[in-house]
Amino acid sequence: MTKIYCTKRIEFDSGHRVPTHDGICRMLHGHRYSVEATFVAEKLNSMGMVIDFAIIKKKLKTWIDDNWDHNVIFDTSDQELGELITKSTGQRIFYLDAHPTAENLALYLFEEVCPKLFAGYKEIKCSKIRLYETPSSFAEVC
Ligand SMILES: [Zn+2]
Repeated sequence: MTKIYCTKRIEFDSGHRVPTHDGICRMLHGHRYSVEATFVAEKLNSMGMVIDFAIIKKKLKTWIDDNWDHNVIFDTSDQELGELITKSTGQRIFYLDAHPTAENLALYLFEEVCPKLFAGYKEIKCSKIRLYETPSSFAEVC
């Protein structure tokens, strides 16, 4: 069976830390993240597309902008620190029920976010999320 894939790249800036890391990743720091979201279909739609790149951008970039961009992503175990930061700076915090590693962010997009955002598109499926934490380091979920 032929499968056709299309991929959209979305970039965002976030802060995070890995609270149990025994090195510098325990320190609060930020990244310019890049997400590559891949969608698959067995046949193209009437416009010759898997899905319009503009729809991916509208749905997924909007979600990322609203939830992760210029935000801090913390494990729920960091809630006390998050509340202190929010109280003193007004900084929003996105709490993930896991350490905010590239792997867990990719997994969250793949398992939680994309299935909800694209539930109305029955002919396609998000088949892969690749999430770059740095230009040379990424995690993939498929
Ligand atoms: Zn980091």
